[in-house]
Amino acid sequence: MAVIKTRDATDAADFDDAVWGRHIFNRRRDTSRVPFAVCEAETAADVVACVEFAKKHNTRVSVRSGGHSWAAWSVRHGAVLVDLIYLDQKEGEWGGEFSYDPTTKIVSAPPSASGRELNDFLAEKVDAEDGRPRWFPGGHCPDVALGGFLLQGGMGWNCKNWGWACEAIVGIDVVTADAKQLHCSATTNPDLFWAARGAGPGFPAIVTRFHLQTRPLDTLYQSLYFFLLSDFQAVLRWVSAAALSADPLTEIVVVTSHFAIDEFESPMVLANFLTFQPTHEAAQIALAALIDTIPDTVTPIMTIDCEETDLDTQYAMQTQANPEDHRYCVDNVYVSNEVADLPALLEPAFTSLPSKQSAALWFAMNPTSRRQLPDMALSLQSDYYVSLYAVWEDEAEDESCVGWVRNSMKTLERSSVGSYLGDADFQARRTKFWSEGAGKRLKEVRKKWDPEGRICGYLDEGDRSGVEGLRNEFEWK
Ligand SMILES: Cc1cc2nc3c(=O)[nH]c(=O)nc-3n(C[C@H](O)[C@H](O)[C@H](O)COP(=O)(O)OP(=O)(O)OC[C@H]3O[C@@H](n4cnc5c(N)ncnc54)[C@H](O)[C@@H]3O)c2cc1C
Repeated sequence: MAVIKTRDATDAADFDDAVWGRHIFNRRRDTSRVPFAVCEAETAADVVACVEFAKKHNTRVSVRSGGHSWAAWSVRHGAVLVDLIYLDQKEGEWGGEFSYDPTTKIVSAPPSASGRELNDFLAEKVDAEDGRPRWFPGGHCPDVALGGFLLQGGMGWNCKNWGWACEAIVGIDVVTADAKQLHCSATTNPDLFWAARGAGPGFPAIVTRFHLQTRPLDTLYQSLYFFLLSDFQAVLRWVSAAALSADPLTEIVVVTSHFAIDEFESPMVLANFLTFQPTHEAAQIALAALIDTIPDTVTPIMTIDCEETDLDTQYAMQTQANPEDHRYCVDNVYVSNEVADLPALLEPAFTSLPSKQSAALWFAMNPTSRRQLPDMALSLQSDYYVSLYAVWEDEAEDESCVGWVRNSMKTLERSSVGSYLGDADFQARRTKFWSEGAGKRLKEVRKKWDPEGRICGYLDEGDRSGVEGLRNEFEWK
């Protein structure tokens, strides 16, 4: 049985290290939140013991899988923090124990496994019929864990076409708020299964295992087109139109940031096309269809055309864009499909980055955004996903960096239909995360499975939301 370390009976430095030390990504932290206890659970039985312990002490339970929540949702004042980082891990191995069934092509993984760890495991599972390795399109950043990522929906690789990562969940094992171990699927405890696909940090149980449908991995090819920042509107107008009829194996992103290219010191606009194709020829056709429509009014500063790449290289690029040991402030919107002039709306935020490492991202979501979603809690989306990432090192820059995100959101949210849980901070502002119907149903499911609010849920202003959860409404309306 793993040790439950209480704050009062543990050396202060040890306790602080267990709470914040290794497993919280964001260096901008609210250390006034001090848990009652922390436990690095190694088995589902440990998780049960933690919930029993919290019941006995009449405290709440908070959960951590990979610690990549931007607002450190796992660290809650007075709660028992159940850290799943070592759950089911074989001795000496980082990332937990996986199992794969070649007949169903379903992989089982602990929630603390990262996308990279899962895909490293799957790389060896070459399909006997088609000769391709299997994979799971998890988070773009390699170290994001399955737990937080999947519960909030999961904007994984090529989400634009393949849909939300949580659509590939076929089952979960959980420990409930009253410390029972259950399996959930479309036919067993279906309401918890429904909530596990989109409730995010308000899921009213603790997931100890995910069972996921994998998919075949083709070869990756990428075209990168860099432009001057002054071309932002023209580039976004071009890409957002071209994305509508693009090849269904291609992910499309426009980012503004400082890129390490030759002599260019100033921020640039990058149109990034990543395609998963069986052959180089197929990739050339898919990417050329996009590039062919570049308007005459803009000229790229630098281009990379249909270059073969791989997951490791993509993960390395993501790690470079999201450096460790930095301070982050992040927020996002789903811009309404009816917006009159998307490039004009986004230009002020995308061209006023507050630091060298900061970035503004536009992610094409159509046709996924136009599909009827499966019956699950995740129920809100639009054609245009926009997220702002302020990234910096020096605390002295907190005000300007946080200010850029907050002020930009004041404008953007009025043209939005809501936001994605994964890049949100409920303490900063209220917005919508689910359709009206799904929001109401989620409230009922949460009350049924956790009537006492044992599991911390959504960290809103003052950590008050409890059993009621989020209001699922715009603050400004
Ligand atoms: C660098 C970086 C890149 C990212 N890239 C992407 C991306 O490409 N796509 C995307 O969709 N998101 C992305 N995100 C957002 C990320 O998916 C979320 O922050 C997610 O919550 C992280 O999951 P985690 O388990 O690592 O975090 P944690 O902080 O451990 O978990 C967040 C919260 O989720 C809940 N939770 C986690 N595990 C469990 C569990 N087992 N049972 C019950 N509740 C649980 C808890 O409330 C917990 O506090 C990124 C974040 C970072 C920092």
